[in-house]
Amino acid sequence: TEACLTSISGAGKLNAFVHDTSEQAREQAKAADARIAAGDAPNMCGLPIGVKDVFATKGQPTQAASYILDGFKPEYESTITSKLFGAGAVMLGKLNMDEFAMGSSNENSVYGPAINPWKVDDRDLTPGGSSGGSAAAVAADLCLAATGTDTGGSIRQPAAFTGTVGIKPTYGRCSRWGVVAYASSLDQAGPMTKTVRDAAIMLEAMAGHDAKDSTSADLAVPDFEAMITGDIKGKKIGIPKEYRIDGIPDEIAKLWDDGAAMLRDAGAEVVDVTLPHTQYALPAYYVIAPAEASSNLARYDGVRYGHRAKIGAGDGIDDMYEKTRAEGFGREVQRRIMIGTYVLSAGFYDAYYNRARKVRTLIKRDFEQVFATGVDAILAPTTPSAAFGIGEVTGKDPVEMYLNDVFTVTLNLAGLPGISVPTGLSSTGLPLGLQLIGRPWEEGDLLNIAHSLE
Ligand code: GLN
Repeated sequence: TEACLTSISGAGKLNAFVHDTSEQAREQAKAADARIAAGDAPNMCGLPIGVKDVFATKGQPTQAASYILDGFKPEYESTITSKLFGAGAVMLGKLNMDEFAMGSSNENSVYGPAINPWKVDDRDLTPGGSSGGSAAAVAADLCLAATGTDTGGSIRQPAAFTGTVGIKPTYGRCSRWGVVAYASSLDQAGPMTKTVRDAAIMLEAMAGHDAKDSTSADLAVPDFEAMITGDIKGKKIGIPKEYRIDGIPDEIAKLWDDGAAMLRDAGAEVVDVTLPHTQYALPAYYVIAPAEASSNLARYDGVRYGHRAKIGAGDGIDDMYEKTRAEGFGREVQRRIMIGTYVLSAGFYDAYYNRARKVRTLIKRDFEQVFATGVDAILAPTTPSAAFGIGEVTGKDPVEMYLNDVFTVTLNLAGLPGISVPTGLSSTGLPLGLQLIGRPWEEGDLLNIAHSLE
């Protein structure tokens, strides 16, 4: 814990840790020492981790990187952080992210952008987003692991950009209670780590049924670590042809072929599969996610939490709401609220929101059909490129940023687990990741196959 705290204090430039919880960390570390001395050391005893600012942490700042939650300190602990603390984990601090987890570069943050520890010619690159602070912190060894959340790729894309491992579990595997909501039917928390084995250990500590989240599944949590046997003989791996999109860079296509070859060498059978509705996933996602967000974010009105705008003598409560939201929400969040309100409005509901929900069902069915043929996991790139520069994509047409999520959003729509593993380097020397998509509730199998790519 002390070594990590020292590293964090020397790594201010990365802007990964945004709230210092070192006092709590030292207390937790002492308690962990005592548990170890007493011979009662759970799986994560004494392991120092970082926590994305989207998790409610009791008595500690929790802002989801938004000005509207300025000064907010919850009276309660999220289920996931309390489970991690119960397993002995130590929280070093809260981590940078895109505001309300909306973004793919960590540039939409009230704290300013997090910086990728990987560089090309000293140029500052994004660590991806929205869990950019988590990815940067793990990659730079500021903590042993971090929590992330993934609504459309926010664990896997930053993992790919920083050479780390990130798993988005099956929807319902981890409790969303106490996690600031973005799009509730898509949001899932998961671990971001250095290795697949670490991800297995941490996922086991995070997962499990929670009566406080009605979408959390009442299923036993397996010993994920024990399921990493290294044996993938006879596993069937699907290569979806629709992911070979136009303009996919040669180095990404090669990375993908190399990954398939690695799995084949390890004894897996590699087969071509088809997911015919893939091209509609991104547009459907960017209707459904903002729709849910516009509803979830209605609670930030200046009355209940965080920031409240100053109002004039003649202003009423509506003026207070308006000014608070205008001051409190960043540009991208305002854009999503506008899109979401629009697609849910009476005249457009059927044309946009309902249509997107139908597309979502078709995408889910695509996956079901592939898994019904005995495929154990689907292999695809995590991202269409390596990490890009700060300011390189942001500030232009927002759709350019959304295109970054083309390979990641599909499985959130289907509720499936997915893991990104670093498997190679770009021509510029930056990490690249491959993604494995698994059957629902088969994270153990997925981790085992992913281990063969390390
Ligand atoms: N980049 C996607 C978005 O902005 C996904 C974000 C996420 O997974 N939280 O919505």
